[in-house]
Amino acid sequence: MTFKELNISEPILRTLNEKGYTSPTPIQEQAIPHALNRKDILGLAQTGTGKTAAFSIPVIQQLCHKKEKEQKRTIKALILTPTRELAIQINECIKEYAKYTQLRHTILYGGVNQNDQVNSLKAGVDILVATPGRLLDLLNQGYVNLGSIRHFVLDEADRMLDMGFIHDIKKLLPKLPKEKQTLLFSATMPQAIAAMSQTIQRNPVKVEVTPTSSVVDTVKQYIYFVEKDEKKDLLVNLLVKDKEQSALIFSKTKHGADKIAKQLCKAGIDSEAIHGNKSQNARQRALNNFKSNKTRVLIATDIAARGIDIDKLELVINYDLPDVPETYVHRIGRTGRAGNTGTALTFCAQYERLMLKDIQKLIGTKLLAAN
Ligand code: AMP
Repeated sequence: MTFKELNISEPILRTLNEKGYTSPTPIQEQAIPHALNRKDILGLAQTGTGKTAAFSIPVIQQLCHKKEKEQKRTIKALILTPTRELAIQINECIKEYAKYTQLRHTILYGGVNQNDQVNSLKAGVDILVATPGRLLDLLNQGYVNLGSIRHFVLDEADRMLDMGFIHDIKKLLPKLPKEKQTLLFSATMPQAIAAMSQTIQRNPVKVEVTPTSSVVDTVKQYIYFVEKDEKKDLLVNLLVKDKEQSALIFSKTKHGADKIAKQLCKAGIDSEAIHGNKSQNARQRALNNFKSNKTRVLIATDIAARGIDIDKLELVINYDLPDVPETYVHRIGRTGRAGNTGTALTFCAQYERLMLKDIQKLIGTKLLAAN
């Protein structure tokens, strides 16, 4: 499945191309066609699944529609999210996908002076990303009018409830027009969310990506308990021991990936890093070098590794533990494919013990200690 097959329009395809996203993630594949058809969506998906693009792309595309474009600049889409960090991430995402459109967007969150936010509202926006408290505040001061909203996104609804935003949301809902598309996303579906969906959505299409929890049994998994500053030497030792073996190494951060690559090169081990700060060309080149055995070791962040499919990869090393347990399963699923056997080594420092506990709970087994 390609983005083109999902009927994504040209300006957005251009950004997707630039970002190097070749295919939609499962939640995007399931949600985008319905969302483009103006259906309400009840999405069960966690962070890391590509859910932000799953709601941002259809909202932007619908607003680019000619009929919408002719209208006066009023806020036509509202994306509500519980935290400032999430709001910033979503706003970045909107910024990228709306890059080749005429649409304008802005972001509202609390804890900072409101003047800049008020000024950008006055300048006119089509898409508003906001946290509930600040939005209500500016609404009450008369700076925001939600009467023209066509698309309403409620992101991380379960977290909204946990954080006590239910009252704010209840106050906001009556300010929105009745006729609108509502996209509700939540990582879990407690009764309160199901009830909320029933009151604010109309025959929503349910889309769900189940977290992967099963590890193929062709992968041997081992764990090394080490201190953070011992990881580098351990990695070099392991890679020096077997001079032939190629390995895919996962790092939680872009900076970390670069650092590991540098250290390995210093130790005479051919390696390259791929992550979001590198151009698509550089990423593709590194990947090709790795696939054709020109470089022995590839270090990747989880996002950059998405969609990487390497035949007969024998070794995956988790230099850092991922925050989301499902990510561990995705990572080590790169090896042991198609009947081949594989090995997954995980370096666990003291501060990562809790994450390890979550991973072991998810996969239902204890990892064997290698040291
Ligand atoms: P999210 O679940 O929205 O937080 O997205 C997780 C990460 O996946 C983000 O960094 C996105 O940029 C990235 N991403 C989203 N869609 C795709 C895609 N189709 N292909 C590759 N990466 C993607």
